[in-house]
Amino acid sequence: MISYDFHIHSALSPCGDNEMTPCNIVNMCQLMEIDTIAVSDHNTIGNVEAVMSVAQQVGIRVIPAMEVETAEEIHVLTLFPDLASAKTVAKLVYDALPNVDNREDIFGQQVYLDDEDRVLGYEKKLLISPTSLSVDELFESVLSVNGIAIPAHVDRHSYSILTNLGFIPPELPVTCIELSRTTEDVDAFFSARPELARYAVLRNSDAHRLESLVLPPAQLPCDFENLFDYCRGGVL
Ligand SMILES: [Zn+2]
Ligand SMILES: [Zn+2]
Repeated sequence: MISYDFHIHSALSPCGDNEMTPCNIVNMCQLMEIDTIAVSDHNTIGNVEAVMSVAQQVGIRVIPAMEVETAEEIHVLTLFPDLASAKTVAKLVYDALPNVDNREDIFGQQVYLDDEDRVLGYEKKLLISPTSLSVDELFESVLSVNGIAIPAHVDRHSYSILTNLGFIPPELPVTCIELSRTTEDVDAFFSARPELARYAVLRNSDAHRLESLVLPPAQLPCDFENLFDYCRGGVL
């Protein structure tokens, strides 16, 4: 069993609270007895290494991750087996963002932090734009480095594959989907959409502030070593 939350935003996401620092995130997850986490900022892994460094000190495992927005304005949670593979895709994603400056007064600051919560700088490019990558191109890039691409918060109305495309295209190699942690009637969700029952399911918080991490931890019936296999366990 692992207790997990694979969708947490840090202060690098403009919509993430500035209190979402590496130390605060790790401390709160430790308090909630979550043993495996992923910080998945919008279209960047810029604070992932700092979170890994803090988490290592308290025995929490961190999966390198990012929440990518595709050209279709679909959010896809991407998880990677290691930092090197995450960096490869993160560069592709960053380059696929339009050259639009962040407006801190409208969107919020995009803060780079180190493992002692010191501010290293601010990202100038607006990170919450859709990239020019199609959902197919994104899946191909993530799978080519042995990562996992997971349609995010499919039960929500915005930035969800089900809302924007109406369905999960059968040719897209989806094996796992994410449902919001706060959705209560999961049975009703799946009984209305029996075609989704074949996918592995993750329940994450999508926390943008610390208080959103205050939930009983979600658990998966697998070991950390088998986690990626579990997420690939849907029909391919
Ligand atoms: Zn999202
Ligand atoms: Zn998110």
